[in-house]
Amino acid sequence: DDRISRITSAIRVIADFPKPGILFQDITTLLLDPMAFKDTIDLFVERYKDKDISVVAGVEARGFIFGPPIALAIGAKFVPMRKPNKLPGAVISQEYSLEYGTDKIEMHIGAVQEGERALVIDDLIATGGTLCAAISLLERVGVNVVECACVIELPDLKGRERLGDKPLFVLVS
Ligand code: 5GP
Repeated sequence: DDRISRITSAIRVIADFPKPGILFQDITTLLLDPMAFKDTIDLFVERYKDKDISVVAGVEARGFIFGPPIALAIGAKFVPMRKPNKLPGAVISQEYSLEYGTDKIEMHIGAVQEGERALVIDDLIATGGTLCAAISLLERVGVNVVECACVIELPDLKGRERLGDKPLFVLVS
């Protein structure tokens, strides 16, 4: 698929960001290329349009870039999963472990209903900790997480294994 090669070429890799030794996958250059950005959204929409998904849940911050256009195109709602203390209403939150310490994501109570079918979207999966937290949060309120989707997977970090049986769809590995 030449769309995948266009997307791959549009992602910039920056060495030593945010820390020495890290090769950061920068998707802002993908957003600068309208054709590659459209290809990215189209590939997700083609996969999810007939899957009866009513919720697209995006993880802050870069899940907020890819999630909404997908949600609009498939006729689903968009639900932001935010960093702590950002959402104004009552929230349900989920802690998860990082390399050093822990972090948390939050979702508004009432944003989703028991029995809804959700897609979880983020730009990248590394260890899988973030996506696992998003899945737990949705499952705790009775939502069925159909699949997780990312633009990029870093396979060496084995995030896919951490997701267990939960299907993961990625465009670039
Ligand atoms: P994980 O929880 O899977 O270890 O890390 C994934 C999270 O970290 C995602 O929310 C993602 O946005 C962010 N992340 C980690 N490394 C990178 C990277 O190289 N590029 C980008 N764009 N995001 C990253």
